[in-house]
Amino acid sequence: MNIHEYQAKQLLARFGVVVPGGEPCTSPEEAREVSQRLFAVGHKKVVLKAQTHAGGRGKGVFKNGMKGGVRVCKSSQEVFDIASYMIGHILVTKQTGAEGRLISTVLVTSAENIKKEFYLAVLLDRNTANPVIMASTEGGMDIEEVAEKQPEKIIHETINPILGLMPYQARKVAVGLGLRGEMLHQAAKLFHGVYRTFWECDASLVEVNPLCIVQRPDGKEELLALDAKVSVDDNALYRHQTIQAMRDLAEEAPLEIEASKYNLNYIKLDGNIACLVNGAGLAMATMDIIQHFGGRPANFLDVGGGATREQVSAAFKIILGDPNVQGILVNIFGGIMDCNVIATGIVGAVKETGLKLPLVVRLEGNNVATGRKTLADSGLPIISGTSMAEAAEKIVLAVKNSV
Ligand code: ADP
Ligand code: MG
Repeated sequence: MNIHEYQAKQLLARFGVVVPGGEPCTSPEEAREVSQRLFAVGHKKVVLKAQTHAGGRGKGVFKNGMKGGVRVCKSSQEVFDIASYMIGHILVTKQTGAEGRLISTVLVTSAENIKKEFYLAVLLDRNTANPVIMASTEGGMDIEEVAEKQPEKIIHETINPILGLMPYQARKVAVGLGLRGEMLHQAAKLFHGVYRTFWECDASLVEVNPLCIVQRPDGKEELLALDAKVSVDDNALYRHQTIQAMRDLAEEAPLEIEASKYNLNYIKLDGNIACLVNGAGLAMATMDIIQHFGGRPANFLDVGGGATREQVSAAFKIILGDPNVQGILVNIFGGIMDCNVIATGIVGAVKETGLKLPLVVRLEGNNVATGRKTLADSGLPIISGTSMAEAAEKIVLAVKNSV
C-alpha cells in the first residue's frame, strides 16, 4: 500500500528525520490560512504540493491548463488562487497515464532555500534478501534514468537486517555523497531515521527524492527530506493501525479495491484473457501457459484454497469489470476446494452476468465428477478443458476466433 507525501513525512518525522513544516489542506481557504501561519513565523515563500501517490508532480500539468503540481507562492492570496486550480482538478504526470489523478489534498509547506539535492532510498533487495540503502548525488531527477545512463552514480549499501544500519555504513554512504564535517554527521543521523522508518513500518520502500541541503536565513545549513514516498507491505498492515488509516482508496485501482473486499488476490494486467485460479502458484503457471500459446493474460486472480460460491461470483464480476477482457479461463485444482462449489459458482455467475464471452473451464481434483456434471447440465456454452495445456490452448483459440 502506498501513502501520500504528507503522510510519509509524518512517519519519517516520528523517527527523527527532519522534514519542512507544513500541513495538508483540502480547501483553498484552509490552504490560505495555513500559509498565513507560515508567513507569520518568517517564511518568505511557501510551496503548494498536490498530493497524489503518483510521482513526477513537479513537471506535471493540470487538465485545466495550469502547469506544475509543485508551486512556489509568495503571498497567501497566491496560495488561495493556486490551490483553487489544484483542489478538485486533475493532474497528469509521467506516472499517472493520460487520465491523470484527481487532486483533493494539497500540502502547504515552507519553501526551502535549496543548495543541493540528493536521492536516498531504503528498499528490499530481492537478490540478497536484505534491505539496501541507495543514494545518489543526482537528486530530484528520475532515478530510473540515472540507473540506466550513469549507474556508477548510485551508491548501494546492503544492510544486515539482524544488525540494522551500522554507524560506519551510514557514514560511508554520506562520504560517498561528498558530505563532510557537520553535514556528514547530520546525514548519518538522517539515514538512521530513514532506515528505522523502513524497518518499523514494515515498508518495502522508503524514498526521499530529493534529500536536500538547505540554507537557513542565519546562513546555517541543514539536511531535509523535501519529498517522501513510503510503500508498506500489505501483509504487515494488520499490525500498523495508524498506517492502515492512511489508506486512500481514491488512489487505488477500483477493481483491486473491490477484490480486496472479498479477500481475493487480484492484479490487473494489460492482456485480454481473464484468469480465475485457486492458488498463487497455479495462477502464475496459468498466466505462463496462456502466454505460451500466444495469448495475453488480463489479470492475476487467486481465489484462494477455500473459496466460497460468493467469492467465485464476485471474482467473475471483477474480471468482467475490465473492458479489455475477451475471454475467460478458469483453472481450478480442488485440493481442499470442492470442484462442485466452483462449478455452482461459475454457473450462477454466468447466468447473473449474462456472459457472452468465451469461457473455458478446467476442473480437477476433489469432487470433480459432480462439478463437471453441474457445468454440463447447466446448458450454458461452457467449453471444458481436461488438461491445463488444452484449456489454455482452447481459450486462446476461442478468443482469436471471436474477435
Ligand atoms: P515530485 O517528485 O512529485 O516531482 P517533489 O516534492 O520532489 O515532487 O518536488 C519537485 C521539486 O520541487 C523538488 O525537486 C524541489 O526542487 C522542489 N521542491 C519541492 N518541495 C520544495 C520545498 N518545500 N521548497 C523548495 N523547493 C521544493
Ligand atoms: Mg520527488
